[in-house]
Amino acid sequence: MENYELVLNILKKKFGFSKFKEGQFETINSLIVGNDVLSILPTGAGKSLIYQLYGYYKQKPIVVITPLISLMYDQVKRMNMMGENKAVTLNSDFDWFQKKVILNNLDQYRFIFISPEYISQDNVFNIINNLDLGLLVIDEAHCVSTWGNDFRPAYLNLRNVIKNFSSKPQLLLLTATASKNVLDDIQQILDLNKLTILKKSINRENIYLKNIKYEDQNSKDEDLLYLLNNLAGSGIVYFSSKTKADEMSKLLIDNNANLRVGVYHADIDDHDRFVIQQQFMNNEIDIVFATSAFGMGIDKSDIRFVIHYHLPQNIEDYFQEIGRAGRDNQKSIAILMYSRQDEYFAKNLIDYSLPDESEINLFDSGNVISNQDKEDILNYYRKIGYPKKDLINLFSELREKRLVDLNHMIDYAKNEKYCRRNIILSYFDEPEITHSEFCCDINSNEVINTFFRKEQGKIKSKELNWKEIIEKLF
Ligand code: ADP
Ligand code: MG
Repeated sequence: MENYELVLNILKKKFGFSKFKEGQFETINSLIVGNDVLSILPTGAGKSLIYQLYGYYKQKPIVVITPLISLMYDQVKRMNMMGENKAVTLNSDFDWFQKKVILNNLDQYRFIFISPEYISQDNVFNIINNLDLGLLVIDEAHCVSTWGNDFRPAYLNLRNVIKNFSSKPQLLLLTATASKNVLDDIQQILDLNKLTILKKSINRENIYLKNIKYEDQNSKDEDLLYLLNNLAGSGIVYFSSKTKADEMSKLLIDNNANLRVGVYHADIDDHDRFVIQQQFMNNEIDIVFATSAFGMGIDKSDIRFVIHYHLPQNIEDYFQEIGRAGRDNQKSIAILMYSRQDEYFAKNLIDYSLPDESEINLFDSGNVISNQDKEDILNYYRKIGYPKKDLINLFSELREKRLVDLNHMIDYAKNEKYCRRNIILSYFDEPEITHSEFCCDINSNEVINTFFRKEQGKIKSKELNWKEIIEKLF
């Protein structure tokens, strides 16, 4: 109780909020008594406030490992806006001189946002090791499992980072998506066996779940344009292919001058991506056509719809991505567009992203592999002296695992019988809920029109000749 009054006071004074959101105090209190904590709270639960407040409580610097540069800037900006000027980011955006200045003065800061790659660099780590840290945070901690082995090996290296501290810092891991597998993975990869795990339901009741099945690509494209011309509010459309995101955005822009559209993926340069994110946050853009690179951790409260044009790779990703809708708790919708071809596309993506035996052999005998990402990954394993035979096994197991995950996603997409929310909840080992009207499109009278704009005047869709437009695409 004593703690409660104390931290409630900080909440009021520093943040101007009168009460905690669910899970916040419990996590802070567990930190206060000295635990290393993994807290699983839904998207929009206010996870950032947990370490911010704890930083004020401890009066010591806090390091936050964050997966994306845009997220780091966003966090620093949010802290600046609440009057905290001792927040800083350290990332690859800065030139060596800027980095040097920040590093030399690192002890001046209270909140340091840093990428896993950056904290893995010896010179950076040594400076951080010398700070008397109040807490080391791994935000979006599911990345350890979903990105570690293939996409961002620096996440695997966090195990060493944690071990190498001369005095082990207290840890806080935060995520909104952790199935049992991901949880086990995080603990195993980071070699943490004494974590206190706090878990609240990650269900997001205000997001209506709808799947639409298509026999062919044309009708899917046509329907996407129709939906975007009609859905109210701002939204995100996720694609697995950058080219398709480009194509569809052009098509939409060509045909509806009223909608303000942005495109966000790995081929858009950093500056433009930053601008698009800002414009979306400020309601200067209505719809973002994006790959999964967009949206993690962004705090835009009034996203009304999230559409998946392609099949996500797994239920974790799907749930994380749709969780960006309706953070203001207002009614929102998640639409999954599914066609049979997507399955092959998704399977190919898995194959494409993981090095296979012949590529590992090629690399091992000193040849260059055409894919830079794979080359980077293999370089990482070479550097840590990982034996070739084990590497082949590792990637073949990983491929199997990714396929199993994808199959869960496919089952979810195809399902026309069971409550969609309950499928997701059971995937995350949560108890079943009573299916209600505003839940999903299974046995529900809720119709898509309730999510459409009221003023029909703005909608140009009826004037368009869809067939003609679609034909232009191919
Ligand atoms: P998460 O990381 O859990 O998805 P964020 O940390 O981005 O969520 O916070 C979401 C929003 O909730 C932010 O705008 C934040 O200011 C707000 N928030 C956090 N804690 C509280 C609170 N106790 N009362 C009201 N709003 C809060
Ligand atoms: Mg967050």
